[in-house]
Amino acid sequence: MTSRLPTSLSLRRSLIALVLGLAMAAIFVADTMTEYAVAAAVFHTAVILVAVRWFSPRTVVGLTVLCIVLTVVSFALTPGGLYRVGLVNTCISILAIAITAYLGLKMVAAQTAAHAAQAQLLHIARATSLGELTASIAHEVNQPLAAIVTSSQAGQRWLGQQPPQLEKANQALQRILADAERASNVITRIRGMARGEAPQRQRFVLEDAVREMVALSQGALEQRGIALRWDFAPHLPDAWADRIQIQQVVGNLLLNAIDAIATDHAQPEITITARRLGEEQLQLTLTDCGSGLSPAVQSHLFDAFWTTKSHGMGLGLTISRSMIEAHGGRIWAEPRDRGGPGTQFHISLPAAKDARP
Ligand code: ADP
Repeated sequence: MTSRLPTSLSLRRSLIALVLGLAMAAIFVADTMTEYAVAAAVFHTAVILVAVRWFSPRTVVGLTVLCIVLTVVSFALTPGGLYRVGLVNTCISILAIAITAYLGLKMVAAQTAAHAAQAQLLHIARATSLGELTASIAHEVNQPLAAIVTSSQAGQRWLGQQPPQLEKANQALQRILADAERASNVITRIRGMARGEAPQRQRFVLEDAVREMVALSQGALEQRGIALRWDFAPHLPDAWADRIQIQQVVGNLLLNAIDAIATDHAQPEITITARRLGEEQLQLTLTDCGSGLSPAVQSHLFDAFWTTKSHGMGLGLTISRSMIEAHGGRIWAEPRDRGGPGTQFHISLPAAKDARP
């Protein structure tokens, strides 16, 4: 296949060269045979336009010179008519041929530059998405890794006691295993997203998935004395979504909420609510009593790499939004509606229909 392509291209070029040669000869004959008043030589411009498309600039310049020479020769050989009219027509033809060649070559140069710029842009886009992918993997895997470190330290403590608390140490090991599996799943999903794969939807109980995620952040919540309130509407339908992606989103929102609450807050709390949104969707809301959103923060919330934290990467909300939107859902933020400053993050996601498997 690859060897056939150049052959067919050079064959086509040879054919076009032949046709152009014949056309030039025909124009020359017509220009010479007809009177001065008939400016057949302007048709050389068509030859130049075709040549610009198929041949190198050097060949086009050579061809232009040839066309001009032919025009002059045919003027000299033309047998009859008004000489002055012939002179003017010849000058116009030469000018038209030269201008066509000039503009054609400029157009080709601009096209080549545009192609080069496009290739460069593609390269930059690829490099950027690679960078973003690496950063998002690092961001998403950080959470289970931190949990693994905490469980390992707990395990060491249980084993170091006299007598060693084997049962507790075993529980810590189980948590490590679960978190390691989560990290591996996260990587698989992010790689899938980078390949443009659709979310792997399944039917699941939203509250269970959220509780699992909250359990991961339990250490951070306890350390900061943050109370967690639940308000899930009764008889909610199951969710119909990629369970792991939804958990990642909840994890991001939860960590942001914890970060936003001042360490010396008198009554720190986070509320998680869920309700039906119409017939087909569920709405999950995380409300914190943190710093709230200034207009500047609100306008940049979902921008990639935008962060106000010294340790932040500014990717959590960007990734969360792309995950939720891949489900046909929405994520948005607003000030907490009552009880002082704070923020509410809402996500909408598809609810499972009864007929779904
Ligand atoms: P990161 O957490 O790495 O900064 P995010 O994309 O998750 O990245 O968040 C971007 C920014 O949005 C945060 O740095 C913070 O300024 C703001 N933000 C996110 N969640 C909240 C919240 N619950 N309350 C106040 N500000 C928030």
